Amino acid sequence: MSVELIRFSGDDLDVVNAFRVSLNVEHDDFTEADAGLITRGMRDGHSSPWAQVWAKFRISCSIGCARQIARHGHYLELNEHSTRYSKMPEAFVVPPLKQQIGKSMDYAFVPLPTEIRQAALAIINESYASAYRDYNDLLNMGVSREDARSVLPLGTMTHLIVSSHMKGWLRFMAQRLDPHAQDEIREIANVIEEQFIAQTPVSMQAWTDFGRRAL
Ligand SMILES: Cc1cc2nc3c(=O)[nH]c(=O)nc-3n(C[C@H](O)[C@H](O)[C@H](O)COP(=O)(O)OP(=O)(O)OC[C@H]3O[C@@H](n4cnc5c(N)ncnc54)[C@H](O)[C@@H]3O)c2cc1C
Repeated sequence: MSVELIRFSGDDLDVVNAFRVSLNVEHDDFTEADAGLITRGMRDGHSSPWAQVWAKFRISCSIGCARQIARHGHYLELNEHSTRYSKMPEAFVVPPLKQQIGKSMDYAFVPLPTEIRQAALAIINESYASAYRDYNDLLNMGVSREDARSVLPLGTMTHLIVSSHMKGWLRFMAQRLDPHAQDEIREIANVIEEQFIAQTPVSMQAWTDFGRRAL
């Protein structure tokens, strides 16, 4: 899994100027009063000023994780590597291989005993290698890329470019930083959060102070 910031546009000043345009006022410098306005706006559940900040990331993750990201399609714009047009490289994401205990909707994860984890890892690696061999065999037999890819598993690595305004990313983070989200997408959300903290620290502090909720 990897997440790389491609471009970030805007900062906390863009957020407050979006608030202040309702009074036809614009600031060139970020003041203490501006920080108060951000805090108040977040407290009162305003959302549109955060749509004036925008970020684009290159994300490499498993196909399974990409499916989860794609569910945020109302706000997140997404383009993905096409394995109809080029061959899928041999790259796979190995999951943490933890154990689930408890029932559906009421469960927790615990580490697997070391020996069992090693055995599980061996199965995963063999399964990935075998699937990729089959994929190559099908291609070598003349099967089209779009048909041969059917044998590749959810753990196969894919590549995305994903962009949204900050309002959309905050909604994504609200859901995917949550402990109920799966490890891989949580790691992605963590890296994205770090970028937003670096670029819009006052907004991110206010977001945390008021419960890290979707706007
Ligand atoms: C822990 C976790 C577990 C999940 N498990 C499952 C699962 O088992 N199965 C499954 O299918 N999904 C699952 N999901 C996905 C989840 O149901 C949402 O689809 C996903 O999180 C995206 O949320 P969203 O709709 O807010 O995103 P966005 O696409 O960003 O939508 C944002 C908001 O825009 C509005 N909106 C979106 N589309 C429309 C529309 N067409 N018309 C009008 N308004 C719209 C809605 O208010 C929506 O909430 C899971 C998500 C999480 C975080």
